[in-house]
Amino acid sequence: HPAFDVQAVRRDFPILKERVNGQPLVWFDNAATTQKPQAVIDRISYFYEHENSNIHRAAHELAARSTDAYEKARDTVAKFMNASSSAEIIFARGTTEAINLVAQSWGRQNIGAGDEIVITWLEHHANIVPWKQLCEVTGATLRVVPVDEDGQVLLGEYQKLLNSHTKLVSFTQVSNALGTVTPAREMIEMAHRVGARVLLDGAQSVSHLRVDVQALDCDWFVFSGHKIFGPTGIGVLYGKAELLEAMPPWQGGGNMIDDVTFEKIVYQPAPARFEAGTGNIADAVGLGAALEYVLKIGIDNIARYEHELLVYAMDALRSISGLRLIGTAAAKTSVLSFVLEGHSNQDIGVALNRAGIAVRTGHHCAQPILRRFGLESTVRPSLAFYNTHEEVDLLVKTVRRIQSGKDF
Ligand code: PMP
Repeated sequence: HPAFDVQAVRRDFPILKERVNGQPLVWFDNAATTQKPQAVIDRISYFYEHENSNIHRAAHELAARSTDAYEKARDTVAKFMNASSSAEIIFARGTTEAINLVAQSWGRQNIGAGDEIVITWLEHHANIVPWKQLCEVTGATLRVVPVDEDGQVLLGEYQKLLNSHTKLVSFTQVSNALGTVTPAREMIEMAHRVGARVLLDGAQSVSHLRVDVQALDCDWFVFSGHKIFGPTGIGVLYGKAELLEAMPPWQGGGNMIDDVTFEKIVYQPAPARFEAGTGNIADAVGLGAALEYVLKIGIDNIARYEHELLVYAMDALRSISGLRLIGTAAAKTSVLSFVLEGHSNQDIGVALNRAGIAVRTGHHCAQPILRRFGLESTVRPSLAFYNTHEEVDLLVKTVRRIQSGKDF
């Protein structure tokens, strides 16, 4: 891959030319959603201008074009995450829907009273609520792996929670609230040793580090298109082929059946079995374009650049008196969560917005992990590969001004 050129990358993202409150937009809300390169915007337009049709059901030319585009996107997803086959890739609305699919399909068939589901303290609500709901209907128990003061999973405690009752371990590869990168490969292996299945939440990892589902050996992997420079409303559930074949359908309708009579329904194999109804065809195609874009730049180039930027930002933020950085694990990516003594997070967010800087303030849909650190919310700048050192400098300068009271 060629050397990483951040200015060239920035030219690919038209929204980065926006101005906010008279200032150039600084997009530091990448953990909430990422911006879209022109290639993605153009691909979606092209679909509606030249290819739009429902898929799979007709003999005409446009049905063939849209079906080809949709299936090509599925192939790109498979290649991107190194799945062994495109049949292991199911399109869903996003991470949330993909997790709910596994909970409702596999979970209701395989989880019963006395069984245990293990998650970590780091989880997003999307990886807590579906399992809590499943426990409530099945009589299973939710167990939660604690984290240390830096926000990293305590592997010894994790080991103690694993036993013959553990049927499922579901955890995030990167925390959206702290940026912690969990030791996923090791945790998956430990779960498999007790015969548990593993779902890995990749919502925050796919855009920042190389994901190889075969090397990880996870049973399912989920992510959202909008967090990796693709559209909203589209995401991915990867599942090992033999597991998907054994999973009952979740939603019923068109597309997912082979034959329907009033007496008996024969379902399609995966992935069609899990894609009932007309899906989000155009945005799946857009997601394919986003992943091709990332593949072209090279995820290792992205990871290297972002790591350098993250370390630079952490060092600078740490030098501000009264600023407490939450999430200081050695393995960390993209996210800088902090609180500032004497200032509400909401006020900091508003003051940063006046300088054109977009950050998330709040609980980031991960209340348990913030409460673990005695907090209800933080200020959360989060980086992507189109962010620059100058933008970090502006963030730090503005936080310093807030801290010295000049902005209030
Ligand atoms: N898990 C993690 C780690 C996340 O960061 C998010 C999005 N903030 C989700 C799950 C849920 O993703 P979505 O809202 O796109 O379904």
